[in-house]
Amino acid sequence: MRAVLHHGERDVRVETVPEPVLTEPTDALVRVTLSCICGSDLWPYRRTTPPEEPSRIGHEFLGVVEQVGADVRTLRVGDLVIAPFKHSCGECEFCLRGLQTSCVRGGFYGTPEEAGAGQGEKVRVPNADGTLVVAPVGVDDPRLPALLTLSDVMATGHHAAVAAGVGPGSHVAVIGDGAVGLCGVLAARRLGAERIILLSSHPDRAAIGRTFGATDVVEVRGDAAVERVRAMTDGLGVPHVMECVGMQGSWDTALGIVKDGGRIGYVGVPNGVTEGLALGRIFRRNVTIAGGVAPARAYLPELMADVLDGSLDPSPVFDLELPLEQAPEGYAAMDERRAIKVLLRV
Ligand SMILES: [Zn+2]
Ligand SMILES: [Zn+2]
Repeated sequence: MRAVLHHGERDVRVETVPEPVLTEPTDALVRVTLSCICGSDLWPYRRTTPPEEPSRIGHEFLGVVEQVGADVRTLRVGDLVIAPFKHSCGECEFCLRGLQTSCVRGGFYGTPEEAGAGQGEKVRVPNADGTLVVAPVGVDDPRLPALLTLSDVMATGHHAAVAAGVGPGSHVAVIGDGAVGLCGVLAARRLGAERIILLSSHPDRAAIGRTFGATDVVEVRGDAAVERVRAMTDGLGVPHVMECVGMQGSWDTALGIVKDGGRIGYVGVPNGVTEGLALGRIFRRNVTIAGGVAPARAYLPELMADVLDGSLDPSPVFDLELPLEQAPEGYAAMDERRAIKVLLRV
């Protein structure tokens, strides 16, 4: 079968690899219909040290169950399933608490111990019962791209909103205009936010943000952004801040614009945050910081219900669609910021 392999710096190739097979009775084999490229796939892509051997990549996909292991109870061959970006058992303490990302039996795709990854024709999904969510739609349903965002970016944007304590009437700021930040805007609106300030210096991304519910756009960065947001909020700042980037600069902005007593919900994977959390800057101000890696599996059912009833459509974050064979062009487009997020038709 065909799959994307990461060879080295800015070098991914679509090659023929062995088909995965069931290895555990709790596995399912999924024939991928749609996959996509994540912003986090760009980190290995940009890394100057190559992997020891070409490695599989990708963790966001949906597809059709082709085969199930003997112990799989909730899935049938032919089901269309959405895979959250991490697999989880569904039974341990963390899974039962809705923190499937900490599952004691769970894991990531594309890591050396797991055979499969999402950017390929088939994936062996471990812990299939606990992981995969059946979507009651056909393989040609027009809502599939929207459903695919639930595997990561929409669930992650939602997690930022939940962690920031967003609710009806909230005044919110969203830092980051990548797919997660834009989905964060959508999530804040879905939870009833009244004012949503999107920090975005890319007019095309800000335009999507406005259609997703941003009421204000701040197009400057750094100290100028802090000044602007404070000027818009009587000098006091914003009570709910969603940090969707994970860089030192975005954290400085978050700490600069959050209102005393407010909450920062963070989902940006820390990347080059060198100065720590500067607790001295927030102690006197009673700022709460919450968040982390999103338990997409926990949110999938409620978000899926909204996609299916037409009230939630994150699919505009996919601004480039390519066949799997052109995945290298998709990586280049995202790396060069010519595309927000690339959908791969498999
Ligand atoms: Zn992802
Ligand atoms: Zn578990």
